[in-house]
Amino acid sequence: MPARSCPFRMPHASAARGLAAAALIVCARVAVLNQAKFVLMAPRVVRTVPALRRAVMPWRTAGERIALVPTMGALHAGHLALVQAARRRARRIVVSIFVNPTQFAPHEDFGSYPRTLAADLAALADLSVDLVWAPSAEVMYPPGFATRIVPEGPAAAGLEDRFRPHFFTGVATVVGKLLIQCMPDFAMFGEKDYQQLKVVTRLTQDLDLPVRIIPVPTVREPDGLALSSRNAYLNPLERAAAPALQRVLAHCAGEITRGELLARVLDEGGAAIESAGFVLDYLEARHADTLQPVAALKDGPIRLLVAARIGKTRLIDNIAVSGGRTAKKAKHGIS
Ligand code: AMP
Repeated sequence: MPARSCPFRMPHASAARGLAAAALIVCARVAVLNQAKFVLMAPRVVRTVPALRRAVMPWRTAGERIALVPTMGALHAGHLALVQAARRRARRIVVSIFVNPTQFAPHEDFGSYPRTLAADLAALADLSVDLVWAPSAEVMYPPGFATRIVPEGPAAAGLEDRFRPHFFTGVATVVGKLLIQCMPDFAMFGEKDYQQLKVVTRLTQDLDLPVRIIPVPTVREPDGLALSSRNAYLNPLERAAAPALQRVLAHCAGEITRGELLARVLDEGGAAIESAGFVLDYLEARHADTLQPVAALKDGPIRLLVAARIGKTRLIDNIAVSGGRTAKKAKHGIS
C-alpha cells in the first residue's frame, strides 16, 4: 500500500503528532509487507487444457518465445536450473507439474512419490515463472483415453528400458501431450535422465514437433550425488554411500580417457559400486547420441550410464567421457 493512501486520519494534528508518526510507521510496514508479497508472488496455476490454451495463446500471438519445463514436482535445485536455463531462452516460462501414472509400473513408487505443490509454488515464486500447468490424472487421461506413443531407438537401447519396460512409453506419451498442449518453442530436459533426454529429442524429430529440446547439465550435491526427488527416500547410511555412484563414474571416465581397456574399466567400476553397498542394474559405455554400445574410445563420443539400487531406492547417473570423437559433447554440456 503506498504511503499516500494510508487510511489513518488525525482529527487534532497538533495534539497527536506521536500518533501520526506511529500511523506512518504502520503504513510503511504494510507497504513493506505488500512489497514482500509481490516479490514472492506464487505463479498462476491452471488445471484444464482450455485454461492453459487461453493463457498461452496471447503469448504466441504476440510472438513471445515460450519455454516449457516438464516436471513431476517435488522441486529441487536441479529443476530450478532448468527454469533458469529456460529464462535465458524465452520470454515466457511454463512449468508443468504432473506425477504421470503411466510411467510407473504397479510395483513402483507412484503412490508414495512426493507431492509438494505448495512448496513447489513457493520455490518458483521468485523465478518469474509465468504459469504452472498442473493437470489432474483425469484431465490428462480422461475416460476413453486410448492413444500411446511407443518410442524405439534410444528408448530400446537396453538401459532403463531393460529394467522399466513400461517407462518410456509413459514418458513419450505424456511429453508428447505436454508439448502439444503448451506449444512451446523450447522444452528443457535434464542430462540427469540421459536416456530420457535422447528419447524426447528423437520423439520431437520423428513427429516434426516445432520445439527445440534443450539439455541442461546435472545439478549435484557438494559431495557429487545428483539431486533427485528420490534422494529423500535414502536413510542416513544410504545417503552417505550414495556419492560413490558419481565417484566411480568419474574414475571410470578418467581411465577410459587414459586409454584403459573399456571392458576392464566397467568390470572394476561395477565391482566398486557393489562394494559401496549398491545392487548394480547396469554400468554401461554407450555412444553419447545414439546410445548404441561402444567398444573403445575411438567409437565415441562416449557417455557412461549407471543405475543401481541401495535399500529401497533406485538411483541413476551418467557422465561424459573426454577424448575420442567429442564433437557433440560440447553441444550437450558436461555434468
Ligand atoms: P522429474 O521431476 O524427476 O521428472 O524431473 C523433471 C526434469 O528435471 C527432468 O528433465 C529431469 O532430467 C530434470 N532433473 C532432475 N534432476 C535433475 C538434476 N539433478 N539436475 C538437472 N536436471 C534434473
